[in-house]
Amino acid sequence: MKKISRRTFNKKLSTGIFGAGVLASMPLACGMGRDTSEKSSLGIALVGLGSYSTYQLAPALAQTKHCHLAGIVTGTREKESLWASKYSIPTTNIYNYQNFDEIAKNKDIDIVYVVLPNSMHAEFSVRAAKAGKHVICEKPMAVSVEECDAIIQSCEKAGVKLGIGYRLHSEPYTQEVKRFVKENTFGKINYVLAEAAYKSTGNPGQWRLNKRLSGGGALMNMGVYSIQSAIYGTGENPLRVSAQEFSTRPEYFKETDETITAQLKFPSGAMGNIFTSHNANANRLYASCDSGWFALEPANNYGPLAGSSSLGPIAFEHESQQKLQMDDFASHILYGTENRAPGAMGKRDMIIVEAIYKSIAEGGSTIPLNLGNMGLV
Ligand code: NAD
Repeated sequence: MKKISRRTFNKKLSTGIFGAGVLASMPLACGMGRDTSEKSSLGIALVGLGSYSTYQLAPALAQTKHCHLAGIVTGTREKESLWASKYSIPTTNIYNYQNFDEIAKNKDIDIVYVVLPNSMHAEFSVRAAKAGKHVICEKPMAVSVEECDAIIQSCEKAGVKLGIGYRLHSEPYTQEVKRFVKENTFGKINYVLAEAAYKSTGNPGQWRLNKRLSGGGALMNMGVYSIQSAIYGTGENPLRVSAQEFSTRPEYFKETDETITAQLKFPSGAMGNIFTSHNANANRLYASCDSGWFALEPANNYGPLAGSSSLGPIAFEHESQQKLQMDDFASHILYGTENRAPGAMGKRDMIIVEAIYKSIAEGGSTIPLNLGNMGLV
C-alpha cells in the first residue's frame, strides 16, 4: 500500500484537493499525532518485561515487517542490560516507571505496548498517550469500564491510535470464523459455546490471584476470550447476561474468582454459553447453526489452533499470532488499514465483565446490556 508523505499531504490539504470524507478516513500518520510518514517500520517500546513480553512479544518483534523492538520500560534494573545486549537496545531507549514520561521526546519510539498487571494498564496507557505515542494495551483492557473510558479519551485527545492485545483477530482461524458468520455460511446461528480456562497451580502470591493487581480472577484473565469468542462466533453483541460462580479451592483462590459460567442472549435469538476457570483446562469455540456447525479447538491459545466444520476441516499454516497482531496495528497507523481490536472492543468486554460480576452478586439475575454495535469489527 502506498503511503502519502506529510509534505504531499500538506500541499493537497492547502489546495483543497481532499474532501471532508477523505480527511476523515486518512491514516493518522498523515493527520494528527506523531509524524510517522517517513517511516516504514515503527518502533515499539514494551512496558513490563514479564513472561508475555519475554517469551512472546520480543521474539515476535524479530519477525515483524512493519514494526520492531526499539525500547523497553522496566522496573527491574537487572533486566535493562540483559535486554539491551540481547536486542541491541541503546541506553537512550531504556526507561523505568518513574522517568517513563520522557519517552515523549524519543523519536525512535512510535508505539508503547503496555504489558503490565491489569490494574496498571490504565495508568501507563494514559501516560503513553499523553507522551504522544500510539498505544497497544494488553487484555483485559483495564480493571473497570471507567478506566477504559479514561484510556480511550486520552488517546482521542492526544490524536494517537489505540489497540487492545487481542491477538486472535489477526490470526487466520479466527478470521475464518468471522468470515463464516459474515457470509452466513452455515445459516442462522442458534447456539455458541465458548470456553477459555486453565488450571492454576503456581505461586499463590502471583499478581493474577491478587484482586488489587488483577481486578478479578479467571473472568478477567481468560473469560475475556470466552466473551470474545461468543461475540465473533455470532457476529453480534449480547443483549443480556446472567452468570454463576463456583469455588472449589477457596484456600488458593482467596480473593479472585475461580470458575464462572454465563449465558448470553443475542439479538438474532442465538444463545451463548460461556465458561471460564482457573481450575480446569478448556479452550473451545463451537457454534450450531441451521445448516451445519463450526468449531475451533484449541480456539484461543498461541497456536497452532485447529478447527473443523460440517463442511470439513479448517486448516491454516501457523504463524506467530503476536507477529500478525503487531504488524496489523502498525499497518493501521502507517497505511490506515482496519484497527482489528480497537479500544471500544476492550471497553465493551469490560462492560460485559462488570455485568457478569453484577449478576453473580445478585444471585444470577439477568443483566441487560445496551451495547449496540460497540466494538464489533
Ligand atoms: P508477568 O507476571 O509475567 O509479568 C508482569 C510484569 O509486570 C513483570 O515484568 C513485573 O516485573 C511487572 N510488574 C510491575 N509492577 C508489578 C507489580 N506491582 N506486581 C507484579 N508485577 C509487576 O505477567 P504477564 O503474563 O507478562 O502478563 C502481563 C499482561 O499481559 C497482563 O495484563 C496479561 O493479561 C497480559 N497477557 C496477555 C496475553 C495475550 O495472549 N494477549 C498473554 C499473557 C499475558
